[in-house]
Amino acid sequence: MTQVFNFSSGPAMLPVEVLRRAEQELRNWQGLGTSVMEISHRSKEFIQVAEEAEKDFRDLLKIPSNYKVLFCHGGARAQFAAVPLNLLGLAKTADYVDGGYWAQSAVKEAVKYCAPNVIDAKTTIDGLRGVTSMNRWQLSDDAAYVHYCPNETIDGIAIHEEPDFGEKVVVADFSSSILSHPIDVERYGVIYAGAQKNIGPAGLTLVIVREDLLGKARQETPSILDYRVLAENDSMFNTPPTFAWYLSGLVFKWLKEQGGVGEIDKHNQQKSDLLYGIIDNSDFYRNDVAVANRSRMNVPFQLADASLDKLFLEESFAAGLHALKGHRVVGGMRASIYNAMPLEGVQALTDFMADFERRRG
Ligand code: PMP
Repeated sequence: MTQVFNFSSGPAMLPVEVLRRAEQELRNWQGLGTSVMEISHRSKEFIQVAEEAEKDFRDLLKIPSNYKVLFCHGGARAQFAAVPLNLLGLAKTADYVDGGYWAQSAVKEAVKYCAPNVIDAKTTIDGLRGVTSMNRWQLSDDAAYVHYCPNETIDGIAIHEEPDFGEKVVVADFSSSILSHPIDVERYGVIYAGAQKNIGPAGLTLVIVREDLLGKARQETPSILDYRVLAENDSMFNTPPTFAWYLSGLVFKWLKEQGGVGEIDKHNQQKSDLLYGIIDNSDFYRNDVAVANRSRMNVPFQLADASLDKLFLEESFAAGLHALKGHRVVGGMRASIYNAMPLEGVQALTDFMADFERRRG
């Protein structure tokens, strides 16, 4: 069988070592004669897994002790509601920086709870799509927090700056870039991320929340979205997605074995340089994102001749390069190259792209 490299934007590929380990212990986990999916989330065996996963996650991101880590349900979209419900308090507005599709989606949810101050940060730089720098974001004084998305999965746009807004509570949707590079957690009030890209399987969402922000949820907040309730119950207020939690724990161990987030960052840089390199050195392919805002995780690219798109997708799939079709709102192709994508995968893609150009260009 041809080796398959899966460029899906999410759910995305998982490290093969993790899948092998899960496969080996699937039916007889820890000698219990059952799988991890079939035991109580309150059993000592599962609690140990849960605690170890949290510890490894904290180590990887160097999360300070005054932050809680919550293992939640509902995907990042549940957080689009949980954030205003937990953080607005008596405020009537919050700043929402619009840099792309997912930031906009967060606004659509926030309008149910407040009148968001939407800061349109989309811009063009030399005809290319980009985002204005943070010092030009016009924040409002009465906003309870500022929300933004550092990596726009669909647009292929990243904000590489880290926030520095004084006392302002900063909330960031890190769904598609968490654990791909070091971050200074102390600059944020809340960080959240759906698991299905860089953490583990879908069904789990991680929230990192500064302790002083707990206990401010609006009275009508569903308990399952209330950060204080989740923190007080060690994320077991109800039955958590145990298998996703366990598997994410294996991914964290794998990441530590790779040398941690600093090392994976270098690796990610190398992979994205390789891919942008071939795009930039060709008139056959193009990426229309300003260099300063290029995502290292999601690389959209277009063929100069869009009538070749279908053929490109058919031939790349046959070569074992899967899930390269771009999102419908951007079109063209998109290669998502999260932590689990090996350099060989990106090499195989760039080799294919060069060959396709030779044959069809
Ligand atoms: N935010 C970002 C940046 C995303 O990429 C996604 C999913 N692709 C979401 C939010 C929505 O996540 P979910 O489907 O887990 O609710």
